[in-house]
Amino acid sequence: DDDAVIDVRIGALGETGVLLLADDLTRAVRVEETRRDFVANVSHELKTPVGAITLLAETMEDAAEDPDAVRRFAERMQTESRRLGHLVQEIIELSRVQGSSALPDAEPVEIDDVVAEAVALNRNFALGSRIEVVTGGTGGLRVFGSASMLTTALSNLVSNAISYSEPDTRVGISVRRDQGMVELSVKDQGMGISKENLERVFERFFRVDRARSRATGGSGLGLAIVKHIATDHGGEVTAWSMAGQGSTFTLRLPEMGRTGAVTVSGATPP
Ligand code: ADP
Repeated sequence: DDDAVIDVRIGALGETGVLLLADDLTRAVRVEETRRDFVANVSHELKTPVGAITLLAETMEDAAEDPDAVRRFAERMQTESRRLGHLVQEIIELSRVQGSSALPDAEPVEIDDVVAEAVALNRNFALGSRIEVVTGGTGGLRVFGSASMLTTALSNLVSNAISYSEPDTRVGISVRRDQGMVELSVKDQGMGISKENLERVFERFFRVDRARSRATGGSGLGLAIVKHIATDHGGEVTAWSMAGQGSTFTLRLPEMGRTGAVTVSGATPP
């Protein structure tokens, strides 16, 4: 039976083999636990807006005679539906980046294009929030990866910087080169993040202030997505902040030389 097979394998592999096997099992258990936590979290997060929409619809039915009330309920239903849509979109995005370590559409990517696209995606949000988004030149740096994923990552950072800042402040995007890495930084003058929360912001569904995040439509998945995208590109994302003094999020990605001789795990350079 199975036990016997494992015994035989352990016998054949010796002590190192036993350790390796135990390690694999631990890892499998951990992956399974993470998956279960994720499903539990997703269910919990989806229940809130779905419950709100259901309740609003029921109340609206009762208030059918009162046009003003109906309008108010309809508006709140729209807000909740938009939140739900945003949440579902982020859950899909996260499972997409979590599911594969390979970059399906990897190609040489101009960082200038990523910055321009991320700024364009947030233009209306910035205007509406009265935040000035400032970008510097990048000097034609390139990385090897997925343009759409990198744009999603940077756009998430820019959108957070806007969300957690007061009107009439600035968000700066800067690009520089450091020891073979391209560093993309998004700096804001917003509320900042305390030390204990800073350690947790990349966790899935973590939000410092649930109430405020709710108002801004935050899901707590944005930074988990950024982290995955950075890792998939052989890079990393780090955060610096001090409560009340703004935050800086930095994406660090392997630079692609002019020869194109950069290998990213899971992707084949041209
Ligand atoms: P959300 O959708 O809630 O913004 P994220 O994963 O993008 O989720 O961010 C997690 C939490 O980290 C946010 O809810 C917020 O509390 C905090 N955070 C992220 N970016 C910033 C920032 N630039 N300034 C202050 N707090 C931030």
